[in-house]
Formats: sequence, C-alpha cells, structure tokens
Amino acid sequence: MRALIDKLARGHDLTAEEYTRLISGFDAGLSDFLFEKARAVRERYYGKDVYIRGLIEFTSYCKNNCLYCGLRCGNRNAQRYRLTKEEILDCCDSGYALGFRTFVLQGGEDPYFTDERMLDIISAVKTRYPDCALTLSIGEKSRESYQAFFDAGADRYLLRHETANDEHYALLHPAEMSPRNRKRCLRDLKDIGYQVGCGFMVGSPGQTAAHLAEDLLFIRELRPQMVGIGPFISQHDTPFADKPGGTLELTLFLLGLLRLTLPYVLLPATTALGTIHPLGREKGILAGANVVMPNLSPVSVRKKYLLYDNKICTGDEAAECRNCLQQRMKAIGYQVVVSRGDCCTNPSRKKNQDEI
Ligand code: SAM
Ligand code: SF4
Repeated sequence: MRALIDKLARGHDLTAEEYTRLISGFDAGLSDFLFEKARAVRERYYGKDVYIRGLIEFTSYCKNNCLYCGLRCGNRNAQRYRLTKEEILDCCDSGYALGFRTFVLQGGEDPYFTDERMLDIISAVKTRYPDCALTLSIGEKSRESYQAFFDAGADRYLLRHETANDEHYALLHPAEMSPRNRKRCLRDLKDIGYQVGCGFMVGSPGQTAAHLAEDLLFIRELRPQMVGIGPFISQHDTPFADKPGGTLELTLFLLGLLRLTLPYVLLPATTALGTIHPLGREKGILAGANVVMPNLSPVSVRKKYLLYDNKICTGDEAAECRNCLQQRMKAIGYQVVVSRGDCCTNPSRKKNQDEI
C-alpha cells in the first residue's frame, strides 16, 4: 500500500482499481505515511500559508430537493431568509477590515436572485473591492448566465459535482436533477475562464470506495483549481435523517490523496470537518489542506443556514471566527495570510514544472 502512495506522489495518478484498494484498505499507519507526503507537497507550493475565504451565506431558499440537504425545498421546517445587497456589502466591509481578500457568495438555488439581481450584486462588490476575488456558489445555471457573471467580475465558482457516478447521483438527488448537467456546468465554467472548484461529500448514503475512486479520476481529468470535500452529516428534517455520517479518518485520507493527485490545488479544511471533530480543521490542514472558510454572514441568520445538524460557529461574530481560526492555525505551526490566495502558478515554488 505504501508503494501505491509513493507511486501517486511521483506520478499524481493511479488507476481506479489502485485508488479503490487504498480507500478500502487504509489504516492509521498508512494515513500518517500519506499525510507526511501530502504536507511536503503542500508546503512546496504554499509554504505554511493558510488562505482564508469569507463565506457569506446570502439565501437559504432553494428550489431544489437534494435528499441530503437541510435547505431542500421539501423541508417545511427550514427557516428561510435572504440578505439584501446592502447587507451583503456590510458583510464584505467587515470582512475586508478583518483581512479577507476573497468573498464567497453561497446560497440555495433561489429564483428571487435573478441574473439581473446577481449582476447588480457582483458589480457592487467588485466596484467596492477591486482587489478582492469574488467566488460564487449558487448552483447550476446556463452557460450564458455564467458568462454574464464572469463578465461582471466574478472570479471563481464552487460547484461540487457531489459524485461522479451516475447511479450514486440518482440516489442522492431527485429525478429532475441530472449528473450530466452538473458536469456540463463545471466544464462551461472552466471554459469561460473561472477558477473552478468541484467536490463531494465523504460518506454520503450509498457511497462506496469505487465511487470515491471515480471521483478522484473525474477530478484528475477536470483539473479544477479548488476541490471542496467534507463529511456527509445528516440533517434531522431530510430523508437521510437516520443515515450515518462520513468519518473523520476517511475524509482526512481523501484530503491527502487529493493533495498528491493535484499538487497545486486549493483544498479547504471545511466547517463540516470541524463539526465532526473539535480539531477537524487542524487535522485537515495537517493532512494536506491549505484553505479555511470562516463565516461572515450576520449572526442573526447563521442558524437558519442549516445544511446539516450541529453545524459549528453559528453563534460567533465574524471577528471571533477569524481570530479563532488564526489561533488554531498558529497552534499547529501554520499562518493565516492576508491575500486573495489564488491557485499557485508560481514556478519558483514548484520543484518540477510537470507536477501541474
Ligand atoms: N446550492 C449550491 C449547490 O448545491 O451547489 C450551493 C450551496 S450547497 C448547500 C453547498 C454544499 O453543501 C453542497 O454542494 C453539498 O455538498 C454540501 N452539503 C449539503 N448538505 C450537506 C450535508 N447534509 N452534509 C454535508 N454537506 C452537505
Ligand atoms: Fe439546494 Fe444546494 Fe442544498 Fe441542493 S445542496 S438543496 S441545490 S442548497
């Protein structure tokens, strides 16, 4: 098994069968072996820097009905809210003062936020903060909409593919959502010129080691700038309320594999990881991640963006979240930096040009 990890570290590629073998057979010793290599690669590209993204959860309305998500339209108990443009700009103002140079606008697929309204918001944020990167995470749109958002100044787009396997996708989503369209979106986004993030939940219902291997192959082929992964955590008002969640160990192992598969990738240690273990985000960084995403949303709405149960940081002000993460990173020997934190394309940091 160590030979497979050595092979991945050297060539950044394994077959589906090899990934599956690693994922179904890993243990603590192999994890430590992997994490040491993943850290070395991460430090070669990004040093000990940790990038921060200011997450603004601006709407909890969603027209979709993904079976795993607390915001699904079928959840009559969900509390719905929308932030106004002024409230979003207020979040950016406090974020900028705290050293954030990337803002992530994330929400459900909310028909209220028409292209026209989104374009107005994007232009307003980029006019006020031209030195900041703006990331959108608002789901599946037409190529024309993505192009218009890009032309208005959006720099990055996060759209987890959720699972690369069509049968597994059908298990997690209602029939009207199609894996083909999700993948079409990702390819359009890349083609337009966005820095793109895909990703998946670890331990989602029905997921197998072979599915995860398919995810890694899909990611290897797409070559996104960012990959967001976190454990699946059940939400009590969804059809998956009683399903077990993804484990810390498997999520960390996949972070390590992702770092070796795409050495330059921006890899967040997610809030979901921090939710299933008090030191989840620190462990994520030590497994190869290099990004954290503190919450900039107003505290009054935090508890209403309940994708999953027991979500952390729902009561803390932005400054507290920011400082807390800074201390946590410092405690493990890493530093939060004031930077847009673009994907590393600086060859001076790369040992071999062919690693990309
Ligand atoms: N609506 C947009 C979309 O689906 O791309 C963006 C917001 S959505 C809430 C962001 C991500 O949350 C999803 O891509 C999904 O992977 C994750 N998520 C949803 N429910 C979750 C759960 N129960 N556990 C862990 N992650 C979850
Ligand atoms: Fe809506 Fe995104 Fe949740 Fe699906 S995952 S229900 S699209 S917010």
